[in-house]
Parts: sequence; structure tokens; C-alpha cells
Amino acid sequence: MEIDRDIPSDPIDRADYFIESVIDDHVKEAMRKAAAIPVGTAGECSSCGEWSMRLVDETCSPCRDKFARFYAP
Ligand SMILES: [Zn+2]
Repeated sequence: MEIDRDIPSDPIDRADYFIESVIDDHVKEAMRKAAAIPVGTAGECSSCGEWSMRLVDETCSPCRDKFARFYAP
């Protein structure tokens, strides 16, 4: 995606522009990663039996963290 922006001629403004665009890229990357996180469903965890609002593959977040090395999404 190409966005047309006016690139400033002043070197200091250009530096600010560059910094802003780098921050922008990091924010966009973070948003892309956040969008890829599964929303999950509410229910009972198949591993520990606790109720969770965000089950992913029928497993709660603490159990997914605990068994992360065995869990391959
Ligand atoms: Zn659990």
C-alpha cells in the first residue's frame, strides 16, 4: 500500500518525518500481529476445567502458556 505524503525539504522536519514513519510502521506491524491473535470462545478449559472467556482450541490462556512448548498453533 502506497500512501502519498509530502516529504518536507527541511532536514530537521525530514528527520521528524522519518521518525514518524518508522513509528507508524511499528504500530502497523503491532496491529497486524494483534489481528492475527485468535479471539477465542467462552467455555470450560479441557485441560484444567476452569471457566474462561477466551478458550483457544478448548484451552485457557494459563494452560496454553504452561504447555506452550507442546502447543503448536
Ligand atoms: Zn486451563
